[in-house]
Amino acid sequence: MKIIPYLFSLVVLSVFGQTPNAPAKDLSCQKTDAEWKAQLNENTYYVLRESGTERPFSGKYNKHYEEGVYKCAGCDAPLYKSDNKYNSGSGWPAFDRAVDGAVSYKKDNKLGYTRVELTCSSCDGHLGHMFEDGPLQTTGKRHCVNSIALSFTSENE
Ligand SMILES: [Zn+2]
Repeated sequence: MKIIPYLFSLVVLSVFGQTPNAPAKDLSCQKTDAEWKAQLNENTYYVLRESGTERPFSGKYNKHYEEGVYKCAGCDAPLYKSDNKYNSGSGWPAFDRAVDGAVSYKKDNKLGYTRVELTCSSCDGHLGHMFEDGPLQTTGKRHCVNSIALSFTSENE
């Protein structure tokens, strides 16, 4: 019975999920909902797969400034470098840019106005939103990312 929603999501992805210039998807990161549920803990599943938002100031990477790379908590794809992290004061980890091609940008009208949703380009996991109030000396963008959607690895490992 689980194959039906899986096939449906593939159809939806094939129709709506691709933009003409999008890099080819890494299909090894595509999993069924049941597989994600088995892999992720409840809170991570809620954010990554149900586009949830963690409570501000609750995440372990909100004020975390070690050197390294922040990867997708779902599929391990490298998403953000510590060099691009800054303290936005919002209560969520903030970056002024993502690793090239690692993050996809989608329109999100859930709150009645348009926001830019950030998703992992490899597994489509929800990461957060992008706002235009980032540091002006660099990109002017603020990638507001749920801490729980990330896993940190030191470059010197
Ligand atoms: Zn991912």
